[in-house]
Amino acid sequence: MPAAIIDGKETARKIRAGIGVRAATLRKEGIFPCLAVILAGEDPASLSYVGAKEKALAEAGMESRDIRLPQSVGEGELLSLIDQLNRDPAVHGILVQLPLPRHIREDKVIAAIDPAKDVDGFHPFSVGSLVLGQPGFLPCTPHGVLTLLRELPVPLAGAHAVVVGRSNIVGRPLANLLCRRDINATVTLCHTGTRNLEDICREADILIAAAGKPGLVSGAMVREGAVVIDVGVNRVEDPAAKKGYRLRGDVDFDSVAEKAAYITPVPGGVGPMTIAMLLQNVLIAAEPKN
Ligand code: NAP
Repeated sequence: MPAAIIDGKETARKIRAGIGVRAATLRKEGIFPCLAVILAGEDPASLSYVGAKEKALAEAGMESRDIRLPQSVGEGELLSLIDQLNRDPAVHGILVQLPLPRHIREDKVIAAIDPAKDVDGFHPFSVGSLVLGQPGFLPCTPHGVLTLLRELPVPLAGAHAVVVGRSNIVGRPLANLLCRRDINATVTLCHTGTRNLEDICREADILIAAAGKPGLVSGAMVREGAVVIDVGVNRVEDPAAKKGYRLRGDVDFDSVAEKAAYITPVPGGVGPMTIAMLLQNVLIAAEPKN
Protein backbone atom coordinates (compact mmCIF):
# COMPACT_ATOMS: atom_id res chain seq x y z
CA MET A 1 0.00 0.00 0.00
CA PRO A 2 1.42 3.45 -0.82
CA ALA A 3 2.52 5.61 2.09
CA ALA A 4 0.19 8.00 3.89
CA ILE A 5 1.24 11.59 3.32
CA ILE A 6 2.19 13.57 6.42
CA ASP A 7 0.53 16.93 5.86
CA GLY A 8 2.94 19.40 7.43
CA LYS A 9 1.07 22.32 5.97
CA GLU A 10 -2.14 21.41 7.79
CA THR A 11 -0.39 20.62 11.09
CA ALA A 12 1.46 23.93 10.84
CA ARG A 13 -1.79 25.78 10.09
CA LYS A 14 -3.37 24.44 13.31
CA ILE A 15 -0.32 25.33 15.38
CA ARG A 16 -0.23 28.82 13.90
CA ALA A 17 -3.91 29.33 14.65
CA GLY A 18 -3.24 28.47 18.32
CA ILE A 19 -0.28 30.85 18.37
CA GLY A 20 -2.53 33.58 16.94
CA VAL A 21 -4.90 33.17 19.89
CA ARG A 22 -2.06 33.36 22.42
CA ALA A 23 -0.58 36.40 20.65
CA ALA A 24 -3.95 38.17 20.83
CA THR A 25 -4.02 37.58 24.61
CA LEU A 26 -0.54 39.06 24.93
CA ARG A 27 -1.54 42.11 22.89
CA LYS A 28 -4.44 42.72 25.28
CA GLU A 29 -1.85 42.79 28.07
CA GLY A 30 0.13 45.40 26.13
CA ILE A 31 2.80 42.99 24.89
CA PHE A 32 3.36 43.04 21.13
CA PRO A 33 5.48 40.00 20.23
CA CYS A 34 8.19 41.21 17.86
CA LEU A 35 10.92 39.44 15.90
CA ALA A 36 13.84 41.38 14.44
CA VAL A 37 14.80 39.76 11.14
CA ILE A 38 18.24 40.60 9.80
CA LEU A 39 19.09 39.84 6.20
CA ALA A 40 22.49 40.75 4.76
CA GLY A 41 22.70 40.62 0.98
CA GLU A 42 20.15 39.55 -1.58
CA ASP A 43 20.42 35.79 -1.87
CA PRO A 44 17.14 34.82 -3.62
CA ALA A 45 16.43 31.78 -1.41
CA SER A 46 17.09 33.85 1.75
CA LEU A 47 14.83 36.64 0.50
CA SER A 48 12.04 34.15 -0.03
CA TYR A 49 12.53 32.50 3.42
CA VAL A 50 12.56 35.89 5.16
CA GLY A 51 9.42 36.96 3.28
CA ALA A 52 7.60 33.77 4.28
CA LYS A 53 8.58 34.21 7.95
CA GLU A 54 7.46 37.84 8.07
CA LYS A 55 4.15 37.02 6.39
CA ALA A 56 3.49 34.22 8.89
CA LEU A 57 4.31 36.53 11.81
CA ALA A 58 1.84 39.13 10.55
CA GLU A 59 -0.86 36.48 10.08
CA ALA A 60 -0.40 35.38 13.69
CA GLY A 61 -0.74 38.97 14.92
CA MET A 62 2.96 39.38 15.67
CA GLU A 63 5.33 42.08 14.55
CA SER A 64 8.55 41.87 12.63
CA ARG A 65 11.27 44.44 12.37
CA ASP A 66 12.69 43.99 8.92
CA ILE A 67 16.39 44.90 8.79
CA ARG A 68 18.01 44.68 5.35
CA LEU A 69 21.74 45.20 5.10
CA PRO A 70 23.99 45.34 2.05
CA GLN A 71 26.17 42.34 1.17
CA SER A 72 29.16 44.52 2.08
CA VAL A 73 28.06 45.14 5.70
CA GLY A 74 30.95 44.83 8.13
CA GLU A 75 31.05 42.28 10.94
CA GLY A 76 31.49 45.06 13.51
CA GLU A 77 28.43 46.89 12.23
CA LEU A 78 26.35 43.71 12.41
CA LEU A 79 27.58 42.96 15.93
CA SER A 80 26.70 46.44 17.18
CA LEU A 81 23.24 46.15 15.60
CA ILE A 82 22.70 42.90 17.48
CA ASP A 83 23.88 44.56 20.68
CA GLN A 84 21.26 47.30 20.19
CA LEU A 85 18.51 44.73 19.54
CA ASN A 86 19.58 42.72 22.60
CA ARG A 87 18.96 45.82 24.73
CA ASP A 88 15.69 46.83 23.04
CA PRO A 89 12.77 45.68 25.25
CA ALA A 90 10.34 45.94 22.32
CA VAL A 91 12.25 43.20 20.46
CA HIS A 92 11.61 39.70 21.81
CA GLY A 93 13.45 37.59 19.26
CA ILE A 94 16.39 38.09 16.90
CA LEU A 95 16.82 36.09 13.73
CA VAL A 96 19.88 36.42 11.52
CA GLN A 97 19.12 34.81 8.19
CA LEU A 98 21.91 32.43 7.17
CA PRO A 99 24.11 32.15 5.21
CA LEU A 100 25.85 35.42 5.97
CA PRO A 101 28.25 37.04 3.48
CA ARG A 102 31.55 35.14 3.44
CA HIS A 103 33.58 37.87 5.18
CA ILE A 104 31.42 37.63 8.32
CA ARG A 105 32.02 34.93 10.93
CA GLU A 106 28.65 33.28 11.52
CA ASP A 107 29.63 31.77 14.85
CA LYS A 108 30.68 35.18 16.20
CA VAL A 109 27.38 36.74 15.12
CA ILE A 110 25.23 33.93 16.53
CA ALA A 111 27.12 34.04 19.84
CA ALA A 112 26.38 37.78 20.09
CA ILE A 113 22.62 37.21 20.30
CA ASP A 114 21.16 37.30 23.80
CA PRO A 115 20.21 33.63 24.49
CA ALA A 116 16.84 34.93 25.80
CA LYS A 117 16.14 36.22 22.26
CA ASP A 118 17.73 33.30 20.38
CA VAL A 119 14.51 32.10 18.73
CA ASP A 120 16.45 30.16 16.05
CA GLY A 121 18.05 28.09 18.81
CA PHE A 122 21.54 28.32 17.26
CA HIS A 123 23.35 30.07 20.15
CA PRO A 124 25.84 27.81 21.97
CA PHE A 125 23.75 28.26 25.14
CA SER A 126 20.63 26.94 23.38
CA VAL A 127 22.61 24.09 21.80
CA GLY A 128 24.07 23.16 25.18
CA SER A 129 20.64 23.25 26.82
CA LEU A 130 19.25 20.95 24.14
CA VAL A 131 22.08 18.44 24.56
CA LEU A 132 21.73 18.52 28.35
CA GLY A 133 17.95 18.16 28.13
CA GLN A 134 17.45 21.52 29.86
CA PRO A 135 14.86 24.14 28.94
CA GLY A 136 15.82 26.47 26.11
CA PHE A 137 14.84 27.43 22.59
CA LEU A 138 14.76 24.42 20.29
CA PRO A 139 15.96 24.93 16.72
CA CYS A 140 12.92 25.27 14.46
CA THR A 141 13.44 22.57 11.82
CA PRO A 142 14.37 19.74 14.22
CA HIS A 143 11.52 20.79 16.52
CA GLY A 144 9.14 20.78 13.54
CA VAL A 145 10.24 17.28 12.55
CA LEU A 146 9.78 16.04 16.11
CA THR A 147 6.32 17.58 16.29
CA LEU A 148 5.28 15.79 13.09
CA LEU A 149 6.66 12.49 14.37
CA ARG A 150 4.81 12.85 17.67
CA GLU A 151 1.51 13.21 15.79
CA LEU A 152 1.87 9.80 14.13
CA PRO A 153 0.45 6.62 15.64
CA VAL A 154 3.97 5.20 15.67
CA PRO A 155 5.99 4.75 18.88
CA LEU A 156 9.20 6.74 18.99
CA ALA A 157 10.49 5.06 22.14
CA GLY A 158 12.74 2.18 21.15
CA ALA A 159 12.46 2.98 17.44
CA HIS A 160 15.64 3.05 15.37
CA ALA A 161 15.89 6.55 13.92
CA VAL A 162 18.46 7.14 11.18
CA VAL A 163 19.33 10.78 10.48
CA VAL A 164 21.24 11.50 7.25
CA GLY A 165 23.11 14.79 7.69
CA ARG A 166 24.93 16.24 10.71
CA SER A 167 24.62 19.99 10.21
CA ASN A 168 24.42 22.20 13.29
CA ILE A 169 20.97 23.45 12.29
CA VAL A 170 19.23 20.19 11.36
CA GLY A 171 20.84 16.75 11.63
CA ARG A 172 22.89 17.07 14.79
CA PRO A 173 20.25 18.75 16.99
CA LEU A 174 17.60 16.38 15.65
CA ALA A 175 19.72 13.34 16.54
CA ASN A 176 20.23 14.83 20.01
CA LEU A 177 16.52 15.44 20.49
CA LEU A 178 15.49 11.98 19.35
CA CYS A 179 17.76 10.23 21.84
CA ARG A 180 16.60 12.31 24.79
CA ARG A 181 15.14 10.19 27.56
CA ASP A 182 11.62 11.57 27.07
CA ILE A 183 11.67 10.45 23.41
CA ASN A 184 13.94 7.45 23.71
CA ALA A 185 14.66 6.58 20.10
CA THR A 186 17.89 4.79 19.24
CA VAL A 187 19.71 7.09 16.86
CA THR A 188 22.22 6.57 14.08
CA LEU A 189 23.66 9.78 12.65
CA CYS A 190 25.02 9.48 9.10
CA HIS A 191 27.20 11.81 7.01
CA THR A 192 29.55 11.68 4.06
CA GLY A 193 32.00 9.53 6.03
CA THR A 194 29.37 6.86 6.64
CA ARG A 195 30.09 3.46 5.10
CA ASN A 196 27.11 1.44 3.84
CA LEU A 197 24.63 4.30 4.00
CA GLU A 198 22.11 2.20 2.07
CA ASP A 199 22.29 -0.70 4.56
CA ILE A 200 21.96 1.60 7.57
CA CYS A 201 18.98 3.43 6.08
CA ARG A 202 17.26 0.09 5.41
CA GLU A 203 17.42 -0.64 9.15
CA ALA A 204 15.54 2.54 10.05
CA ASP A 205 12.07 2.55 11.56
CA ILE A 206 12.26 6.32 11.15
CA LEU A 207 14.43 7.71 8.37
CA ILE A 208 15.16 11.43 8.23
CA ALA A 209 16.95 12.84 5.21
CA ALA A 210 18.68 16.19 5.77
CA ALA A 211 21.61 16.08 3.37
CA GLY A 212 20.76 18.69 0.76
CA LYS A 213 21.14 16.12 -2.04
CA PRO A 214 18.11 15.79 -4.29
CA GLY A 215 16.76 12.25 -4.45
CA LEU A 216 19.56 10.79 -2.29
CA VAL A 217 17.23 8.36 -0.53
CA SER A 218 15.68 5.88 -2.95
CA GLY A 219 13.04 3.22 -2.40
CA ALA A 220 15.76 0.55 -2.30
CA MET A 221 17.14 2.21 0.88
CA VAL A 222 13.86 2.11 2.79
CA ARG A 223 12.43 -0.66 4.93
CA GLU A 224 8.83 -1.67 4.27
CA GLY A 225 6.59 0.29 6.68
CA ALA A 226 9.17 2.90 7.70
CA VAL A 227 8.40 6.55 8.47
CA VAL A 228 10.32 8.82 6.10
CA ILE A 229 10.82 12.51 6.79
CA ASP A 230 12.31 14.61 4.02
CA VAL A 231 13.95 17.80 5.27
CA GLY A 232 15.73 18.54 2.00
CA VAL A 233 14.74 21.55 -0.05
CA ASN A 234 16.75 21.61 -3.25
CA ARG A 235 16.27 23.79 -6.30
CA VAL A 236 16.62 21.64 -9.40
CA GLU A 237 16.57 23.09 -12.91
CA ASP A 238 13.32 22.58 -14.72
CA PRO A 239 12.84 24.52 -17.96
CA ALA A 240 9.14 23.60 -17.90
CA ALA A 241 8.63 25.35 -14.55
CA LYS A 242 7.70 29.04 -14.47
CA LYS A 243 10.72 30.01 -12.37
CA GLY A 244 13.06 27.71 -14.30
CA TYR A 245 13.48 25.43 -11.29
CA ARG A 246 11.39 23.28 -9.00
CA LEU A 247 11.85 22.20 -5.41
CA ARG A 248 12.92 18.65 -4.78
CA GLY A 249 13.56 16.89 -1.50
CA ASP A 250 16.39 14.55 -0.53
CA VAL A 251 13.99 11.65 -0.92
CA ASP A 252 12.97 10.13 -4.23
CA PHE A 253 9.30 10.49 -3.39
CA ASP A 254 7.73 8.04 -5.86
CA SER A 255 9.93 5.02 -5.15
CA VAL A 256 9.99 5.65 -1.38
CA ALA A 257 6.21 6.14 -1.13
CA GLU A 258 5.82 2.60 -2.49
CA LYS A 259 7.47 1.19 0.64
CA ALA A 260 7.10 3.66 3.50
CA ALA A 261 4.09 3.75 5.82
CA TYR A 262 4.31 7.55 6.18
CA ILE A 263 6.16 10.16 4.16
CA THR A 264 6.47 13.96 4.11
CA PRO A 265 6.13 15.72 0.76
CA VAL A 266 8.37 18.55 -0.50
CA PRO A 267 7.02 21.16 -0.46
CA GLY A 268 4.31 20.96 2.21
CA GLY A 269 6.06 18.74 4.76
CA VAL A 270 8.80 19.98 7.05
CA GLY A 271 9.08 23.52 5.60
CA PRO A 272 5.79 24.89 6.99
CA MET A 273 6.58 23.30 10.36
CA THR A 274 9.87 25.19 10.57
CA ILE A 275 8.00 28.48 10.32
CA ALA A 276 5.34 27.39 12.84
CA MET A 277 8.06 26.49 15.36
CA LEU A 278 9.73 29.87 14.81
CA LEU A 279 6.46 31.65 15.62
CA GLN A 280 6.13 29.49 18.72
CA ASN A 281 9.60 30.49 19.88
CA VAL A 282 8.86 34.20 19.33
CA LEU A 283 5.70 33.83 21.39
CA ILE A 284 7.59 32.07 24.21
CA ALA A 285 10.24 34.82 24.10
CA ALA A 286 7.53 37.49 24.43
CA GLU A 287 5.56 35.82 27.22
CA PRO A 288 6.22 37.29 30.67
CA LYS A 289 8.60 35.19 32.75
CA ASN A 290 7.72 34.45 36.35
P1 NAP B 1 24.32 21.14 5.20
O1 NAP B 1 24.80 22.09 6.22
O2 NAP B 1 24.87 21.22 3.81
O3 NAP B 1 24.61 19.66 5.75
C1 NAP B 1 24.36 18.54 4.98
C2 NAP B 1 24.73 17.32 5.75
O4 NAP B 1 24.42 16.18 4.95
C3 NAP B 1 26.22 17.22 6.08
O5 NAP B 1 26.37 16.74 7.39
C4 NAP B 1 26.77 16.23 5.06
O6 NAP B 1 27.79 15.43 5.56
C5 NAP B 1 25.55 15.33 4.84
N1 NAP B 1 25.57 14.75 3.50
C6 NAP B 1 25.63 15.39 2.31
N2 NAP B 1 25.66 14.49 1.30
C7 NAP B 1 25.59 13.28 1.86
C8 NAP B 1 25.61 11.95 1.34
N3 NAP B 1 25.68 11.73 0.03
N4 NAP B 1 25.56 10.93 2.21
C9 NAP B 1 25.50 11.15 3.56
N5 NAP B 1 25.50 12.38 4.11
C10 NAP B 1 25.54 13.43 3.27
O7 NAP B 1 22.75 21.16 5.03
P2 NAP B 1 21.56 21.59 6.05
O8 NAP B 1 21.63 23.03 6.30
O9 NAP B 1 21.50 20.64 7.19
O10 NAP B 1 20.31 21.32 5.10
C11 NAP B 1 20.03 20.03 4.59
C12 NAP B 1 18.85 20.12 3.66
O11 NAP B 1 17.71 20.53 4.41
C13 NAP B 1 19.00 21.16 2.55
O12 NAP B 1 18.33 20.70 1.39
C14 NAP B 1 18.29 22.38 3.10
O13 NAP B 1 17.80 23.23 2.09
C15 NAP B 1 17.18 21.72 3.85
N6 NAP B 1 16.62 22.51 4.94
C16 NAP B 1 15.28 22.57 5.01
C17 NAP B 1 14.69 23.27 6.03
C18 NAP B 1 13.20 23.31 6.07
O14 NAP B 1 12.65 24.12 6.80
N7 NAP B 1 12.51 22.43 5.36
C19 NAP B 1 15.45 23.92 6.99
C20 NAP B 1 16.85 23.80 6.92
C21 NAP B 1 17.41 23.08 5.90
P3 NAP B 1 29.24 16.01 6.00
O15 NAP B 1 29.01 16.62 7.35
O16 NAP B 1 30.10 14.81 6.07
O17 NAP B 1 29.62 17.01 4.96
